[in-house]
Amino acid sequence: MSNSRANNSRADEFDLVVVGLGAMGSAALYHAAARGLRVLGIDKFNPPHQMGSSHAETRITRLAIGEGPQYLPFVARSHEIWRKLEAQSGRDLFYQTGGYTIAPQGAKTSERWGDFVNVTAQIAAENDIAYEVLTPTEFAQRQPSFVVGPEFRVGFEPSAGVVLIEQAIAVQLDLARANGAVTNTNQPVSAIEPDASGVTIKTDSGSFRSAKAIITTGPWLGDLVPAAKRHVEVYRQTVVWFDVDDPEPFSTDNFSYVMWPGHTIEDYLAVWPTPPGSVGLKAMRERFDQPCHPDTVDRTVSDAEIAQLYENYIEGRVLGVNPKALRSAVCLYSETKDEHFLIDYHPDSSNVMFASACSGHGFKHSTALSEAMVAQLMSGQVEPSLATSSGATALSLEPFSLQRVSEDNPPGDVQK
Ligand SMILES: Cc1cc2nc3c(=O)[nH]c(=O)nc-3n(C[C@H](O)[C@H](O)[C@H](O)COP(=O)(O)OP(=O)(O)OC[C@H]3O[C@@H](n4cnc5c(N)ncnc54)[C@H](O)[C@@H]3O)c2cc1C
Repeated sequence: MSNSRANNSRADEFDLVVVGLGAMGSAALYHAAARGLRVLGIDKFNPPHQMGSSHAETRITRLAIGEGPQYLPFVARSHEIWRKLEAQSGRDLFYQTGGYTIAPQGAKTSERWGDFVNVTAQIAAENDIAYEVLTPTEFAQRQPSFVVGPEFRVGFEPSAGVVLIEQAIAVQLDLARANGAVTNTNQPVSAIEPDASGVTIKTDSGSFRSAKAIITTGPWLGDLVPAAKRHVEVYRQTVVWFDVDDPEPFSTDNFSYVMWPGHTIEDYLAVWPTPPGSVGLKAMRERFDQPCHPDTVDRTVSDAEIAQLYENYIEGRVLGVNPKALRSAVCLYSETKDEHFLIDYHPDSSNVMFASACSGHGFKHSTALSEAMVAQLMSGQVEPSLATSSGATALSLEPFSLQRVSEDNPPGDVQK
């Protein structure tokens, strides 16, 4: 427990309690403390940790979001906030390496990734985001390590890059504490009970009272928000850092991330550039074999899984990479059926909001989403001043409502 406060606090001592301090919750705590709120953050582990959805070194971020226009204001604002966090903390978080997406031409947009390069290029054009579409030959001239067939197109966004995820969580928590936030770690919350005058947050060692609460428990969301449980499936993902012949071509100085969806959902490969202080080429595929629960999931990446990733996804496609795994990690996706996020008020109380199910693409938006959620919960609106300085677009949480995935609204209703 760090910076802990005794549990016998007076009623309504906190303006806001944030439950779960991963990507979303650490950001909520930071933004709440920056607003001058009396805020408590509670986590069942000691973040940043390796048990949820926010570890394994880096996350991709890009401004041209092929997943849908509702995300653009959030990722643009997140880029601004990361630069602010870097300035406030003196720590590097965001490497603007640029980023490549390789996708088959002409794939149906109803497929998981669809014609992702052309969809993204269109969104980039509509929003004045620099974006190039390259042939495989043009791409090979820039990144000779990749072997790409003629059926693909390659998109390149210079403003894209990677963010150090554990570092971002640590910085947000440190700055929140510096602004007066209290954090209780290694303290699981067992119940959140709203009533007419506020919220009681129960843990094994006592209870807290607060005017408001935010639940950002990631892959554990369903345990504390039963109404969300049936709309979210958790999937085990495996990440491997492979040995490389020469680290230089894969470093953040020389390399951009590559997202490579193929013809089917099984084909997806992503590789990340290696930030200073790390070694090896980080790679993952996406897997949706069996839903799991974070308390019981197998946390070991087997030799067979490593060999399969290398032989089926890396060998012959990315040159200069060896089959030897330097390290590996298991990390968790929380998926809704339409692959969009869930951010809403708790069905039982307008004093409680929750956010999760970031379906494998949530980190890049997380700090701006949480900033908007804190604003919405505390002042009833997301202030227009929070929109990016580069564009005056409003930040709206409405597209992420629980109601859209309810039985009355089949998948596809949300604007993609
Ligand atoms: C392998 C992988 C690769 C990804 N790649 C990308 C990418 O490149 N770009 C991108 O934008 N997104 C990516 N994502 C998605 C992104 O990482 C997630 O959307 C994001 O990190 C989710 O953060 P979260 O705060 O919702 O969950 P978490 O970070 O898991 O946080 C939940 C927190 O709640 C705590 N908690 C749970 N239950 C309780 C309880 N009862 N009491 C107290 N605390 C509790 C947990 O300990 C944890 O700290 C990826 C995800 C994975 C798994």
